[in-house]
Amino acid sequence: MAGDENVRVSEKLDFDTFEFQFENLHYATERHRTYVIFDVKPQSAGGRSRRLWGYIINNPNVCHAELILMSMIDRHLESNPGVYAMTWYMSWSPCANCSSKLNPWLKNLLEEQGHTLMMHFSRIYDRDREGDHRGLRGLKHVSNSFRMGVVGRAEVKECLAEYVEASRRTLTWLDTTESMAAKMRRKLFCILVRCAGMRESGMPLHLFT
Ligand SMILES: [Zn+2]
Repeated sequence: MAGDENVRVSEKLDFDTFEFQFENLHYATERHRTYVIFDVKPQSAGGRSRRLWGYIINNPNVCHAELILMSMIDRHLESNPGVYAMTWYMSWSPCANCSSKLNPWLKNLLEEQGHTLMMHFSRIYDRDREGDHRGLRGLKHVSNSFRMGVVGRAEVKECLAEYVEASRRTLTWLDTTESMAAKMRRKLFCILVRCAGMRESGMPLHLFT
């Protein structure tokens, strides 16, 4: 798998790619690929458990990044049994189809096997608006060991510290990350509560979709 051009194990993402792909814009153009930086860490030392980290890029029109990552983690767990704390930093949130595949997979991994997953995404993918939003709502209650949220300044710092190659430059959008993330969090909240409150309050719905 390490030689697969879409899968990079134990490799940091280059700075320029991170800067372009993970910017939390509301109208992101030319970002047609999904990047997922992942870290699958043993929750306790010892045994046969082993850390797995790196990043994945989707294979356009063939396989979404989440599906590649799910099968990769399955294989890792088979040969390296243990209990893991997983973290995913995604450039886009899961689409409807990936959410429907993630749902039973997460139930099994988190509820039956005791792993945890924290999923962060820079932007909310909603090409198929109703379907994608329904998918996120379905994930929301998949397990108490699952959390999802928006990539904010703290997560950007984590990525830069651990998963992105060093650079002499500062991210061009580092200072605006938190204000953009706040808007994205409101959009996510709106999706997860089905926008009922927003509509009643007269908040223009288009601001959030
Ligand atoms: Zn997908």
